[in-house]
Amino acid sequence: MHERMRRYNAPIIMMAKLESTSAVAAGNAEWLARSRAAVWHPCTQMKQHETWPLVPIARGRGAWLYDFDGRRYLDSVSSWWVNLFGHAHPKINAAIASQLEEVEHVMLAGFTHRPVVELSERLASIAPGGLGHCFYGSDGASAVEIALKMSFHYWRNRGESGKNGFIALEHGYHGETLGALSVTDVALFRDAYAPLLRQHTALPSPDARQARNGQSARDHALGATAALEAHLALHHRSIAALIVEPLVQGAAGMAIYDPAYLERARTLCTRYGVHLIADEIMTGFGRTGTMFACEQAGIAPDFLCLSKGLTGGYLPLSAVLTTDEVYAAFYDDDVARGFLHSHSYTGNALACRAALAVLDLFRDEDVIAANRTRAETLTALAQPIAAHPKVSDFRHLGMIWAFEVDSGRKDFASWCFSAALQREMLLRPIGRTVYWMPPYCLSDGEMALLAERTLDIVACA
Ligand SMILES: *Cc1c(COP(=O)(O)O)cnc(C)c1O
Repeated sequence: MHERMRRYNAPIIMMAKLESTSAVAAGNAEWLARSRAAVWHPCTQMKQHETWPLVPIARGRGAWLYDFDGRRYLDSVSSWWVNLFGHAHPKINAAIASQLEEVEHVMLAGFTHRPVVELSERLASIAPGGLGHCFYGSDGASAVEIALKMSFHYWRNRGESGKNGFIALEHGYHGETLGALSVTDVALFRDAYAPLLRQHTALPSPDARQARNGQSARDHALGATAALEAHLALHHRSIAALIVEPLVQGAAGMAIYDPAYLERARTLCTRYGVHLIADEIMTGFGRTGTMFACEQAGIAPDFLCLSKGLTGGYLPLSAVLTTDEVYAAFYDDDVARGFLHSHSYTGNALACRAALAVLDLFRDEDVIAANRTRAETLTALAQPIAAHPKVSDFRHLGMIWAFEVDSGRKDFASWCFSAALQREMLLRPIGRTVYWMPPYCLSDGEMALLAERTLDIVACA
């Protein structure tokens, strides 16, 4: 007990000492100790930071992050998949600063404001299909919660409250609040909380890596739809929705799959009266080479969940877009038939204004086309990695690259993370899958650096 107290309190005492000397600029070591004492970091066994130090970041510019001791890191994972145009982008900075002069936030129940109206109109105009009604949340998981609740409540309002189950894909990831975790199939995140979660059905994934016996990615995807069809045929009366990550299952290790799956899933969901929820929280905003991944399958979902890149990686914001048909089922004299869900920061004006600046950049700088050229360059530079004997399943879609590394190292992911830091890169492998998901601003020189230094890591693995 006393031993423990001493251990945990040591950094707090150190912090008091630091405050008294705060005139001296703090370096990495000080921020690291204070952070470990006071901040409980996400997705982390904190004890591991005894071995793997945190990286204190002082500032960011473009694709680079800088620490307090003057070292730099190329942000090759877009700060956990959120950043689109680099750090401290002058146009997004200016948009947020100008919004600060208007209004920073106002509650969205009973009130409205210019950025939220404009953003809703513009998202509807670029989203696939007729998704003209936009509901806001604060982060990805809250968007998933909203879509699940809305789908269930739609069926309930239609007199079909037995439709209260959800189906999802094996190894799918939809966030970590209890509802979102209920449709997530990643054991590491789920298992400890299993008693708190609703039962869900995980159907076979169309992941192209699982194609066997000379099957094409398309054959494998179509094979997976057979299981979906069989399940829907038996259980559709108790199912509200199917939720999928279109084209790429990110947390599964960048599992890329053929659009044929989505095409067929759309047809089956319509036939069996089950909603299709497209979780484009990671794939949206150009990540897969089109504005939204659903476009590559030529489909429109009943619910489209957006977050991450929505504000260019600046501010937490998420949105769920849905159809006239869903909206109409809630529109009634009876209050309880309405969607009585809210978050305090719903439709935050600063975040909406950042999102509008992001959409302006897509329009004014023809980002999707520019990324096509960028992707060709980086794919060419990555060929020595793809051909390396320790590398398998090299794959690429839009602005995502991934491959498996055959390494005898026990904790390959942590080793690779530090090996990358030593080479001025931020890489954060998922198990043995190394991936790049860079911001849309890499120069040719930065792409060459990324490819060369990653190859060097693979060679040392
Ligand atoms: C990141 C992610 C989420 C969760 O978003 P948070 O903002 O982390 O809650 C949900 N679905 C997908 C596909 C994601 O990549």
